[in-house]
Amino acid sequence: MTEELEQIRKRLSKLLKKERYEHTLGVMYTAASLAMCYGADMQKALTAGLLHDCGKFCPAKEQIEMCRTIGIKLTESELQMPALVHAKLGACLAQYDYGIRDQEILDAITYHTTGRPDMTLLEKIIYIADYIEPNRKEIPGLQEIRGIVFRDIDQAVCLSAGSTVRYLENGGKAVDPMTVKTYNFYKKEV
Ligand code: FE
Ligand code: FE
Repeated sequence: MTEELEQIRKRLSKLLKKERYEHTLGVMYTAASLAMCYGADMQKALTAGLLHDCGKFCPAKEQIEMCRTIGIKLTESELQMPALVHAKLGACLAQYDYGIRDQEILDAITYHTTGRPDMTLLEKIIYIADYIEPNRKEIPGLQEIRGIVFRDIDQAVCLSAGSTVRYLENGGKAVDPMTVKTYNFYKKEV
């Protein structure tokens, strides 16, 4: 691991709760494996994976407060679903607190929860690594997605976006419009 990544890892190990930190490492290494498989930049995958949840260092309420203070604009659905807020906040912290200048890495952090239509390879890698990393609890469809992601990443993105939409709808929860857009885009792609 590079010196820079090592520094970030140390900081996050202190800032994040143990479980969140373990998840973070799981995403980092899963993202690196996917980068090897698909020929993406492994260093960027490690960095984005390591930082993807850095916005979760405090409770959602405080995350929203921080966004107000910094001037990050939140959408109506982000205010209704505070679990989404850490993505935008995380990208901002990655840039200004952790010194990440690479826009591709910052975008991968921004879109890791909802995805977006026509994602870059790195965005897809972080989106799906977050979903399948080894510490994730068994949820319906997870095994299938783990089984195909190293053969067809678009299909894996489609399946995970679809199962997120279904999971939220079945639980009577609101679904972010971007998640629906992601699903519709990849449904047509595959
Ligand atoms: Fe997240
Ligand atoms: Fe995550």
